[in-house]
Amino acid sequence: MSADLTDLYQQVILDHNKRPRNRGKLPTANRVAHGDNPTCGDQCSVYLRLAPGLPGQPNRITEISFDGSGCAISQASASLMTTKVKGKNAAEVAALYKEFHDIVTTGNSPDEVSDLAAFAGVHAFPARIKCATLGWHAALEALKSDSLPTTTESHTD
Ligand code: ZN
Repeated sequence: MSADLTDLYQQVILDHNKRPRNRGKLPTANRVAHGDNPTCGDQCSVYLRLAPGLPGQPNRITEISFDGSGCAISQASASLMTTKVKGKNAAEVAALYKEFHDIVTTGNSPDEVSDLAAFAGVHAFPARIKCATLGWHAALEALKSDSLPTTTESHTD
């Protein structure tokens, strides 16, 4: 990866830290899950609204927000995640998460420039991978949860 591209990707993370997207509780949410990364002290709750799309199509995330505290990687990743999964159904979110998980565990970026690749540098710091995936885990939990707020005390990778 060129130095310029690395700089660009660092900007993505800094920007999401400075101006988190979709931060705060979502009053209209019908799915909630909480993620906890005790090794780093990161917390992340994800609130989303699943609603029917076109007839015969699976439910989609029509609204999403996150709330939490912790290191820059965890909060920037959760912020970016909310912008990527809005409008998606559960299968599409799982596919995106797989792509993101590959990026943070291998450092390999997809062929096309993707803001998810901003987190490729995380692969060099295995302890931080859980920081980067925390918000995604919470979102996946929320998608699987019943249509009532639920809290899980911890998550496993
Ligand atoms: Zn962390």
